[in-house]
Amino acid sequence: MKIERNKVVAFHYTLRQVGGESLEQSDPARPELYLHGHNNILLAMERAFEGREAGDSFTIELAPKDAYGEIKPERKVRVSLKHIVQPKQSLRAGARVQVQTKEGTIDARVIKVGKFNIDVDTNHPLAGMSLSFDIEIADVRDATDEELAHRHAHGVGGHEH
Ligand code: ZN
Repeated sequence: MKIERNKVVAFHYTLRQVGGESLEQSDPARPELYLHGHNNILLAMERAFEGREAGDSFTIELAPKDAYGEIKPERKVRVSLKHIVQPKQSLRAGARVQVQTKEGTIDARVIKVGKFNIDVDTNHPLAGMSLSFDIEIADVRDATDEELAHRHAHGVGGHEH
């Protein structure tokens, strides 16, 4: 069965920065699961998956613009310490924190901590990187009516609710 819109795809991946070390990989016992054609994974990845079948292995290289975008200087901001969620944890440079904003809570990385303010970087951790994914397609199946209604895959590796 080939990957096309409304198929549920299970796949293994190893993610690395192009020319660099592995950044993360899927659990060998628990492939990632997604519903194809509904913006559940990066668009450039979805295009590369189109037409593949279970057992196919391939590598995708994505420029930052096709992955998590370029680093935006304006995303390095100074905020009041009171906007940091759970500031009890040690706030030191490099720590991951959550910042409350008008648009909701966002993930950030601490740059510098002051007495009342904190400088944080809200760029995606993979922003600015050219990424390489080693992909192995584990399974392709038809989506259920419920999955189509929810626009995502259900089950282990997908949404479990
Ligand atoms: Zn659902």
